[in-house]
Formats: sequence, structure tokens, C-alpha cells
Amino acid sequence: MEPVWTALTGASLVPAWNALEETQYFSLATLRERQEAALRRITAAACKDTAFYRRRFAEAGLGSSVSTLAELRKLPVLTKRDIRMHGPELVSRNIAGKRILEFRTGGSTGVPLALFISEETSHQRNAAARRSNLWSGWKVGEPVGAVWGNPLLPKTVKDRLRHELLDPVIYLDTMSLSPDAVRAFAREWRRERPTLLFGHAHSLYLLAKTVEDLDIDDIRPRAILSTSMMLLAPERATIEDVFEVAVFDRYGCEEVGLIGSECELHHGMHINLDHVIVEFLRADGQPAAPGEMGFVVVTDLLNDVMPLIRYRVEDLASPMTTACACGRGLPLMDRVAGRVADFLVRDDGTQVAGVSLIENTLTRIPGIEQMQIVQEQLDRIVLRIVADPGGAAEARPALRNYFEATFPGARIDIELVSGIPREANGKYRFAICKVVQ
Ligand SMILES: [Zn+2]
Repeated sequence: MEPVWTALTGASLVPAWNALEETQYFSLATLRERQEAALRRITAAACKDTAFYRRRFAEAGLGSSVSTLAELRKLPVLTKRDIRMHGPELVSRNIAGKRILEFRTGGSTGVPLALFISEETSHQRNAAARRSNLWSGWKVGEPVGAVWGNPLLPKTVKDRLRHELLDPVIYLDTMSLSPDAVRAFAREWRRERPTLLFGHAHSLYLLAKTVEDLDIDDIRPRAILSTSMMLLAPERATIEDVFEVAVFDRYGCEEVGLIGSECELHHGMHINLDHVIVEFLRADGQPAAPGEMGFVVVTDLLNDVMPLIRYRVEDLASPMTTACACGRGLPLMDRVAGRVADFLVRDDGTQVAGVSLIENTLTRIPGIEQMQIVQEQLDRIVLRIVADPGGAAEARPALRNYFEATFPGARIDIELVSGIPREANGKYRFAICKVVQ
């Protein structure tokens, strides 16, 4: 199996993964030293090769690189708005000879961003994903079942990489979830026998509920991997009850890749210290204490094509100081609060994942800065959008067309708003369904 994977994903993946298998057991002190060396490299490159960071470091009274967290904290955090305003200035001028991948994301708070990474960085990220995939008991090459939007059967290396090295054999499409779709998924499951089930947290929950309603009792993965969205405790309990197996919670974002992942002990998520520096900041900018929720701010130690230094993801989480009994030196983090998206419902009863609707519109339709979808009634959907200057006129027709096609017969209202606030409990809801189901 390995040579095939190597050919498809690049020769650098396997050595990168092998190295990560070792570093996970390094002491925290050693891992921190390695982080500081990587921080020095990435900040030196950012200052040398991007106009944005040269200016930002100078304004903060810093030299042309930093190598400690204390120095790093002197830099202001990088917001999504910064990236939208200054995108081209964040891209390195020193990219000759590198294969560059461009991707667009809207996933984390409904703000679309265009991002660039090298193929090498992509391999490194996927090596980290593979390392934590293996913590679940899944083995390289075993079939995977996914609950995901837009089942792009991976056609290219790039598509494969987007799926974090998990190449699902069967899909349940989150754009069209219904009892019939779940029955078809169960039939495919019996044929292909996946050992791992992965998907958005709430999609896994809806699958579990439907499987229970339909008395399907033979979807039995070895483990379940929940990713991309906040995993709510009651939903986790339902998923684990129905499938009689543990859920591994995973936290990351497309902008920097994997941030944290549970090991087999489930006592928190091990931070991907090899690749990211993670800070937890209170609203006043000071570090959150262990157990206290703070904004997640990440510094990507890999991406030298478009460096993201002190990037605020807009999720909340808390640091932990306990060491995990599994023996890994990677420290733990806990309780991510952030992305939540309901499923909307069509008049035929089919459910449509809010997260998939966001992915299908925000990353493709220009002019929108942020969006929230509210289904007020079965036949009425309100799109609240924060538009770029002049962007509303551009975005409206495309948004209307997409939603009218997806929800035939429903009235689509588009409201321009100045901002979309997060809820008091820290959740950022980008799709809300008020229809009683
Ligand atoms: Zn552990």
C-alpha cells in the first residue's frame, strides 16, 4: 500500500509522517525548543519576503524575526479582515520553484478567504492528520465512510489532500440527507466495510438519529472521527450510544490545518505542536488560564508561502496543563466552542447541511464578507450578509439563484447587515433552522 500512497501524495509525506511518529513522544521542553527554532525561521522568512509582515514587525518594535512566545505576543493578532484587506501583501515574493496550491475557505465563521500554501506544506499537514487518524485505531489503506458535503470523489492529488489523507470509499451527502439516503449509505457500508466513519459533528449526530429510527444495527466502525464543527456533548453521547464506539474529536481549520486531536484516552485534544503555536487569549488580550476559555490564536510554523502569524481563528477553547497518560509530550487543549450549523429542511423533508450551503456559496460568490442563513419557515429563508463595498449588488443574484435552486418554491430574502454577532455562549451559528422537524 505504501508505494501507492507515496506516488499519489508525494515522496515527502512518508518521511514527514515517520518523523511525526517519533516527535509525539518527545518531552514538552524539547518540543518547545523545536517550536522556537521553527518560529525563528518562519518569522525571518515572513519579514524578508512579505511587505505586510515587514511593516507589522517594524510597527511593533521587533527586529526581523522572533524566537520566543514573549516576543511573538508583541505583534497584534491577524484577523480575517486583515487577510481580506491585505491578501496579496501577505504572499511571499520568494516562491520560485515551489508548487503552490490555492484554496478558498468560508468554513470557520462564514468569512471567505483565499489562501496559498506550497505542496510541501500540504504534505506536512497531511502527515500530521495521518498521525492522529492512526490514534483512532484506523490503519493506512483501510476503507473510510464519510458524512460530508459535495462528495467530490477525489479526482486529483489536490482533492485527496483536501480530505486529510482519508480517502472515503463511501459518502453520505450532507447536501441531501434523508432516510432513503441513509438506507443507501448502509447498503454501501455492508459492501465496503469501512473501519472509520468521519464527518462534521452535527452530521454524524443526524446520521446516528436516523440509523436509530430505521433500526439499522450493522454500521459498526472501529472509530468515529468528528471534525470541522463543534462537537456538542449530548450529540457526542448519542453518536457513541448508537454506534457503540468512541468518537475522536478533532479540531482544525483549513487556514492552518490540524490544531488538536484526541488520542485513545479522550482526555482533551493533543495540540499539533510540531506545526502550530496555539495561544488562548482572553478578550483583554491576556493569556487565558487553564480551564478558562480564550480566543484561539495560531501561528503556522509551516506555511512560508502565505505566513499566518498570530492568526485569530474566531473559535474559543481552553488550555490544559495536565499531561496525558498516553505518554505523548504534545500538550492538551479542551472544549472548543465555535462553529455550529443547523441543517435546513426542504419541503420534501430532505435535510441540507448549513455548513455545506456556506461552502457552496461563500467560497464561490464574490462580494460577501460574512453570511448567516436563517430558515424562518419551510418556505422562507433569510440570508443575512455583510457585504464588501459594492459587493452586495454583485452577490445578490448569484445567492438568490443558488438558494432558489436548492429550496424550490421558498422565498429567499437577503438582508444587508453590518455584522453577525456570536452568541453569548461563544457559539458562532452560521446556519439556523427554526422549522420544527
Ligand atoms: Zn493522550
